[in-house]
Amino acid sequence: MKYQPSESILKYLLDMRNALAWSTAVALAYARTCGGIPNPIQLRGKVKPWFDSRYDYARHHVNPVCRSAVALLKSYRKNHKRLGLPQVRKLAMRIDSELFRVTKNEDGMVTVRVTLKPFNYEYMTFAPCHKKWDEYSKAGKTCELLLTDRKLCFTFILEADACKPLGKRLVASDINFQSIDSTAFSDGKLESVSCESLKRIVGIQNDFSRRRRSLQLHVRNPAKRARKLRETRGRQRNRVRDTLQKLSTKIVSANPSTTFVFENLKGIRKEEKPRSVGRVLTMCLNRWPYRMFQNMIEYKSRCRTMYVSPRGTSSQCPVCGGKLDHPAWAVSRCEICGVDYDRDRLSSLEILRRGLRLCGRPFAVSASASWQSMKDEYLYAPGAPRLGEQAEPRLPTHRIEKCTKLHISRNGFVVRANGHRWCR
Ligand SMILES: [Zn+2]
Repeated sequence: MKYQPSESILKYLLDMRNALAWSTAVALAYARTCGGIPNPIQLRGKVKPWFDSRYDYARHHVNPVCRSAVALLKSYRKNHKRLGLPQVRKLAMRIDSELFRVTKNEDGMVTVRVTLKPFNYEYMTFAPCHKKWDEYSKAGKTCELLLTDRKLCFTFILEADACKPLGKRLVASDINFQSIDSTAFSDGKLESVSCESLKRIVGIQNDFSRRRRSLQLHVRNPAKRARKLRETRGRQRNRVRDTLQKLSTKIVSANPSTTFVFENLKGIRKEEKPRSVGRVLTMCLNRWPYRMFQNMIEYKSRCRTMYVSPRGTSSQCPVCGGKLDHPAWAVSRCEICGVDYDRDRLSSLEILRRGLRLCGRPFAVSASASWQSMKDEYLYAPGAPRLGEQAEPRLPTHRIEKCTKLHISRNGFVVRANGHRWCR
């Protein structure tokens, strides 16, 4: 919220900036002599006598000063890889919840009362123009106020259950490297199956990994190479994030009042993998931004998001409970049902089944009439090219030692050297 600071607020902010600079210096001296950045409580023991003798503000104000000083020092160490004295420039101070009170006036304005000195209050009035203000101030309680010379930033603690209800519909999604397969469920029956391609993201990632490879090969100066690599990583992250933002906004606005069900994939990257898992799959796993996507859906959706266990989602048949076989990567064969299912779609059905069980509405797939009409959607169709099924083309990269023969393809990129190696 924007506001107009009064004289005494500005003086308070200036004093706090000085106090913060001083406490940071104290914390740095402590870290250099005692071998480690102190925690805020230890620092408060050192700073408090000085603070009390110098300022007549309420004694609680020393706590956020010490917390900020420790945080500043830690982030300086993280950014510079060494200890040093960070400069304090901004006029900003955190105020603990016991030192301010928010009241709503009759005319719709909101007043904040901040205790600067004991029994000496400062009042700030503003119009709550943030679109989430009503939702948050009703559901949550304020826990901290960040006071700057221009803005007031409130932090709320929300109880997750109070804030987000369970949706009427359910959409279960199986997130793969190249596509997101979803099954929608409403009114006790299966509604539809859909597939969103992630080709764009894979394209961006391939593009940037190629750029990085050529930087590693051709830029000799190590400092320049490191800088260039860092830049490409940042740009790649931004572009992937942007694509995911657009995709998640599209999905959430297409599914109002819907609870999304995902697999809880925490730890899949660290999990013990069999030796057969190749370099390419490991690379795909490491750059797969599933968690970013799930987070975006979670905060954009107005309903609660659920996570189910990912164990065995593509090895148990959701229709009959039998064991699934995978004659090919995209195929799930069930001996009991006697058919070949599409692996990704079937696992989204299994995720949906688990999500419904979690809601306390168990759903028997094979007994439902909607399953009989939807069944064909889940079958594996080898003829039809599906989105996101082709493996990315793997081009071996070799340094060209001696070119005997050059062959430039139609897109002008592929070079053939020594008669047998393909080089990019
Ligand atoms: Zn089956």
